[in-house]
Amino acid sequence: MALPESFVSQLTGLFASPAAENPTGAIVEAAYRHAGLNARYVTCEVGPAGLEAAVRGAVAMGWAGFHCSLPHKIAVVKHLDELAQAAELIGAVNCVVIRDGRLIGENTDGQGFLTSLRATVEPKGQRIVILGAGGAARAIAFELALAGAGHILIVSRRREVGEGLARDLRERTSTDASAAHWHTPFAVPADTQILINATSVGLFPDVGAKPEIDYSTVAAQMIVADIIPNPPRTAFLNEVEARGCEVIDGLGMLVNQAVIAIRSWNGIEADAQVMRETLTEIFG
Ligand code: NDP
Repeated sequence: MALPESFVSQLTGLFASPAAENPTGAIVEAAYRHAGLNARYVTCEVGPAGLEAAVRGAVAMGWAGFHCSLPHKIAVVKHLDELAQAAELIGAVNCVVIRDGRLIGENTDGQGFLTSLRATVEPKGQRIVILGAGGAARAIAFELALAGAGHILIVSRRREVGEGLARDLRERTSTDASAAHWHTPFAVPADTQILINATSVGLFPDVGAKPEIDYSTVAAQMIVADIIPNPPRTAFLNEVEARGCEVIDGLGMLVNQAVIAIRSWNGIEADAQVMRETLTEIFG
């Protein structure tokens, strides 16, 4: 006789509005299964009006933690008990850890990127160019600054947003930062050591699109990263790889932020390879 369903020992999940296509659930569940953990990751559609109740509900049900996607990344902050350093600096939270009933806000997007980058190069002292000044660019920029980046140049279409991010980096970290207004094909400065596409250009289904830069200014010794996870091999990465650059794809960032979340929630070291394979299946 089949046994009645037993309690799940650890509940985790995502609060998203509206329930957007999000591959994190699939990779976290794959990691749980691989580790033989009695844990689940549930994607919940939570509207802005229901966020506070959803947060309280997670505490009441003994969840280990949850992710927040847009538009909750900033709104969730006022419902939390404390913020980790990077989340405080970035001003946004994508991952909440519930410990002894206390809600701790973290931002693991930048940390996920940093882990991925460090497999190729240590950012300390490096001259880094970031294309874009949105939420992901902000998280990555602060994490790179905390890791001791030498100089960060923010390139953005909206001048005031890029300048605001560069000013925040200068004022709140010890890294030097500046901004460039992106109005024509951007010429990458010759002394750039790491170039990062943190825009949404190239994301599926717009897979032929590339950031508008002067590709003749991309030199072979530059290390180039794209944060677009789908497709993993973007037109941007293909173009710079053909110019001799070593490249880093966006899958690593996505996998590593999940590894960090699982470490905080469940106290285990998740198998990154299992998650990467799951993503590769999803994205084809
Ligand atoms: P935002 O909407 O906050 O930011 C998008 C940025 O891209 C803005 O700076 C925007 O500029 C810029 N941008 C968009 N189109 C263009 C263009 N044609 N030319 C120049 N700049 C452009 O999004 P997020 O920062 O949250 O996410 C950005 C991308 O990163 C998404 O595609 C997402 O999939 C990916 N991502 C990947 C993660 C991973 O784990 N690999 C994690 C998080 C995000 P403007 O403000 O001028 O419009």
